[in-house]
Amino acid sequence: MKIMKKFIRYYRPYRKVFLFDMICAFGISIIDLAFPQILNYLNATLYLEDPQTIRRAILVLAAGLLVMYLVRAACKYYVSAQGHIMGARMERDMRKELFDQYERLSFSYYDKNNTGEMMSRLVSDLFDICEFAHHGPENVFISLLKIIGSFVLLCWIHVPLTLLLVVVTVAMLLFSLRQNKRMQATFMENRRKIAGVNASLQDTLGGIRVVKSFANEKIEREKFAESNERYLTSKIDNYHCMGWFQSGNNFFQGLLYVTILVGGAYFIAQGTLEPVALATYALYINIFVTPIEVLVEFTEMLQKGYSGFKRFNEVMETTVDIQDAPDAQELRDVKGVIDYKDVCFSYNAEESVLDHINIHIDAGRSIALVGPSGGGKTTICSLLPRFYDVDSGSITIDGKDIRSLTLESLRQNIGIVQQDVYLFAGSIGENIAYGKPGATMEEIIDAAKKANIHEFILSLPQGYDTYVGERGARLSGGQKQRISIARVFLKDPKILILDEATSALDNESERHIQKSLEELAKNRTSITIAHRLSTIRGADEIIVIGEKGIEERGTHEELLQLDNVYARYYRLQFEGLEESA
Ligand code: ADP
Ligand code: MG
Repeated sequence: MKIMKKFIRYYRPYRKVFLFDMICAFGISIIDLAFPQILNYLNATLYLEDPQTIRRAILVLAAGLLVMYLVRAACKYYVSAQGHIMGARMERDMRKELFDQYERLSFSYYDKNNTGEMMSRLVSDLFDICEFAHHGPENVFISLLKIIGSFVLLCWIHVPLTLLLVVVTVAMLLFSLRQNKRMQATFMENRRKIAGVNASLQDTLGGIRVVKSFANEKIEREKFAESNERYLTSKIDNYHCMGWFQSGNNFFQGLLYVTILVGGAYFIAQGTLEPVALATYALYINIFVTPIEVLVEFTEMLQKGYSGFKRFNEVMETTVDIQDAPDAQELRDVKGVIDYKDVCFSYNAEESVLDHINIHIDAGRSIALVGPSGGGKTTICSLLPRFYDVDSGSITIDGKDIRSLTLESLRQNIGIVQQDVYLFAGSIGENIAYGKPGATMEEIIDAAKKANIHEFILSLPQGYDTYVGERGARLSGGQKQRISIARVFLKDPKILILDEATSALDNESERHIQKSLEELAKNRTSITIAHRLSTIRGADEIIVIGEKGIEERGTHEELLQLDNVYARYYRLQFEGLEESA
């Protein structure tokens, strides 16, 4: 019931349209119900004496009918056009809300959910919901009106005949419901099987290089043929069911007419039924039976719409665990003093990742985090922009707890360069401008120069307008990284996080980018994570993160003197370099 209330809320902005839609639906039903009555009128007219009056009566009838059909057409237009438009508007509203919610949801949600599924919610679930939202009330309303109205009129014409009709109709209804359920099951199976075909296709095409290099085309062909065949089998089942459903329904309709014909003849012979009344009766049967079929098919739409809305509602009701506190303040005039005080954090209850971590960084200073992968370095960095919140302890910037600041102002003051770079569909210029929406061309070029990518961009035929393609597929790793560095130059934050920014690059590109990164780190508080220790020698403090948390800390020289974990790492890499040189 609660979910129903939630659903009705989406009608609220359109209640006038909805009301008018219902009125038009009502109009259509009434006109359809009135139509068979003309037989009575016609019958009465034809027995009139005077041909003149007959002619006039028929003209009046024709004019009346014409008006009726004009009104019906107008109603029909409103229901088809405005009703659907209302559905589409509701779909737009829901899609917007869902998108906003997706943007609000925290990283912890994205860790658990798959983006493909989220996209399908945005597209197909919402379509199902709104198809139902528009057709649902109208279908039920029109159908019930017609069923009840025609039933009353049928009873009014002849009660015993109508009892016969009900018996056959109930049999037909039982058959329809059963057959429809079967048919829907085969439809679902169809959808699963075609998904299998698509998955198989995607897998083979996506991995075509691997397929060919192993010369495994034959195996892939057989695998594909199998899923293709399974799809065919499910379609065959589906069409068998559909055939049964349709032919069965047709038969029952025929049976209905035979019953009425035989029964009607009997009652006419008995003298309880007029022949013209039987003709009117036959017309009403159609009005009575068709909406029953509509309702049977409607059960499917209802099911889809309901489960779609349930899924939609699930997302909408997911609590956003990281958001602005009610009295959140703007982070302004940042100096860049960062403090991690006794920070504990875990992604899930089973395993603690950070255990009482203390880090202090003075404004404009740099620290480096080193250690084995999985130690928690990235996690430490993710806590600063509040991608996740600490379990206990606190993190402050210039003495202010980050939880007391607005997320927007906090994140605007932190720049992040990571190993993976995500480029959006669009031009190189647009991708750099992502660092500062509304940036001027001069600013973009200036940032590109600082990131050492300006010359390269100019060497492209379309310069800054060059389209980067899906995820930047047309650029090398180093080029993409430079674009992401240019973004951060443009953003110009006081605090900088470099998380293995150069780890994916070869030595040559790394050396080049290193210079830009050093330039970027100037006058900013920075946290650097690096595998290659040569890049962090100059850090004001190096913190070694191990299995058991912070294992040692100090400057490069101090740690070498300590001659423990860091010194061991350093020698290992240094000797490695000597050998390869
Ligand atoms: P590092 O950057 O030092 O390699 P991370 O901070 O990425 O280490 O990871 C620390 C630990 O937290 C690892 O055991 C990792 O498996 C776990 N972890 C990292 N990210 C997530 C996540 N989003 N959800 C659950 N566990 C995670
Ligand atoms: Mg990491």
